[in-house]
Amino acid sequence: MSKTYKLAEQFISINGEGQCAGELALFLRFAGCNLRCVWCDTAWACGKDAPHETVTLQRLAEIAADAQAKGVRNVTLTGGEPLLQENIAAAAEHLCKSGMRVEIETNGAVSLAPYLETGAVFTMDYKLPSSGMERHMRTENFALLRERDTVKFVCGSREDVFRAKEIAEQYRPQCPLYLSPVFGQIDPAEIVEIMKAQKMGGFRLQLQLHKFIWDPMARGV
Ligand code: SF4
Repeated sequence: MSKTYKLAEQFISINGEGQCAGELALFLRFAGCNLRCVWCDTAWACGKDAPHETVTLQRLAEIAADAQAKGVRNVTLTGGEPLLQENIAAAAEHLCKSGMRVEIETNGAVSLAPYLETGAVFTMDYKLPSSGMERHMRTENFALLRERDTVKFVCGSREDVFRAKEIAEQYRPQCPLYLSPVFGQIDPAEIVEIMKAQKMGGFRLQLQLHKFIWDPMARGV
């Protein structure tokens, strides 16, 4: 049987976050998530009944080829939680072989071990206390991250920023560490003050670009 995927939406935009922020990217958003973060901005794509189209690997490859023909070099596999798609490793490998830079945005609650050889890079969230989901974090993933990967600490409160520092000191991942404020919940200036006071020189503050360019609630951008 051919490999299939629950594709919730696909569009070309700029990468709002991560090491290629600002570059054009094809977004493939898959339906379904194993977490329910309090401040989730894609809750519509998370449930079992999330609207989606069932597509084959060949269809994903066609969408990616079309984006490449338009000059797009990056593809971001996102969700929901993309690693819940049974055949996501095959899709990541295929897209890497086609010459695209493949980034997997994952929520930190799924083991990365089966996907390390796909050629994709990870932007892995660590869900902090304000998400309500910290207990689900698979901290063993930290040891698997490589220089080209990224850890994103999504901060919805001051307590979250302190916790991010604690986690980074405990697990010492070998990749860049981003602090990303939850839009509308914490003033980025407050995060900078904490970074200065707590000597958090190993972190980078990053704003979600698309929330500033478009309506913060807009989909497909
Ligand atoms: S992991 Fe991401 S997609 Fe899932 S509930 Fe949390 S913010 Fe939403």
